[in-house]
Amino acid sequence: MPRSPPTPSFALRGALLTSIGDPFRDGLEGTRRYEGDGLLVVAGGVIVDAGPYVAVRRRLPPGTPVERLPRSTLLVPGFVDCHVHYAQLPVVASHGTQLLDWLDRYTFPAERAAAEPRHARRLASAFFDATLAAGTTTVASFCTVHPGSVDAFFGEARRRDVRAIGGKVLMDRHAPRGLADTAQRGYDESKALIARWHGRGRLGYAITPRFAPTSSPAQLAAAGALWREHPDCWVQSHLSESRQEVDRVRKLFPRARDYVDVYARAGLLGRRAIYGHGLHLSEREFAVLHASGTALAHCPTSNLFLGSGLFAWPRAKMPARPVRVGLGTDVGGGTSLSLLATLGEAYKVAQLGGTSLAPAQLFHLATRGGAQALDLDAHVGSLLPGMEADFVELDCEATPLLAQRVRHAEGIDDVLFALAVLGDERAVAATWVAGRCVHRRAAARQA
Ligand SMILES: [Zn+2]
Repeated sequence: MPRSPPTPSFALRGALLTSIGDPFRDGLEGTRRYEGDGLLVVAGGVIVDAGPYVAVRRRLPPGTPVERLPRSTLLVPGFVDCHVHYAQLPVVASHGTQLLDWLDRYTFPAERAAAEPRHARRLASAFFDATLAAGTTTVASFCTVHPGSVDAFFGEARRRDVRAIGGKVLMDRHAPRGLADTAQRGYDESKALIARWHGRGRLGYAITPRFAPTSSPAQLAAAGALWREHPDCWVQSHLSESRQEVDRVRKLFPRARDYVDVYARAGLLGRRAIYGHGLHLSEREFAVLHASGTALAHCPTSNLFLGSGLFAWPRAKMPARPVRVGLGTDVGGGTSLSLLATLGEAYKVAQLGGTSLAPAQLFHLATRGGAQALDLDAHVGSLLPGMEADFVELDCEATPLLAQRVRHAEGIDDVLFALAVLGDERAVAATWVAGRCVHRRAAARQA
């Protein structure tokens, strides 16, 4: 499929906010940049300049069109969803079960339906439309066990030119009929999909064992071997989501020291490996994640909805051995595709554990922090020269309640926090991908 020609140069003038460091590691001061009157310059799908209007205007190439954004707009980097299941879109908000029963009752039937290629394409199309409407411009998604579900996912991502990481689910035991592969078949199919999609445009392949309970040691070892052969691919899976699951892993892998050790033995830890959840980890497991550079995707709406547990922020970010953490919506277990809504729930989960996440930390998690967790921070996650031009126009007065709150805000932190707690898709006025506007909210203001 041919890609569109590069976009011409243009500039947007308005309030700009970007994370430029790591507020968990380096403190809140100096790790982000806010310009009340800023200018963002884009050429060929890339940010070529950004900063205070008065300074950047002087460097602006003559003839570059400048669009002035509404006063209520805040321009931020596109959001990064580090963990989601696009084929589970139809079962979001399904009632009544916790993780292992949830899989049997809702997840597996939904994923079985994705065997049909036209259905998978419809799902992928609806998924990308919805994520872009939510301001999310980078996703790491599980597909299903069917290679066609990966073709559907990457095909729709490529059509929109979004940064997308995805992979075929590997599952060779304790899986229902129609959703199981074998260690060899999973390896072969994944390898063929890597050849077909990895590194094409903005796409990246993730070797994707669902989680330890549904893969034999042989399949996990094959996944590890495949990663060694393709070290610039990603690995995504689940880790320590529910206590029942942790007990099952202990029985299935009696020789492993703990859950993290199951993945370590298979060679599945390291930079570019990202695991959903990590709610019931020991000190040893956190230390191994830190030392190996493995990232966690915190999925608060899912953890609350499925009653799985609370993410332990102080332990994950212990200064002596901080673990890289991004945010995931985890739809269908999660209840929203909006990273803004996810931020509000992340804040509440942290509060239940006695931690108050700062607005700058929340904002970082949804943008640059997610990009760091996916090892993509050299490309996306901040509004800096050289970055791909993925950004969002947030409407800080999108709803009457938000407008009321923001009117009384005392600075940008107040505005950010209001967006995190009260915001969702309604606050996304427009989404830009590689310098192209790919979504613009229909109504000027919604109740
Ligand atoms: Zn998940």
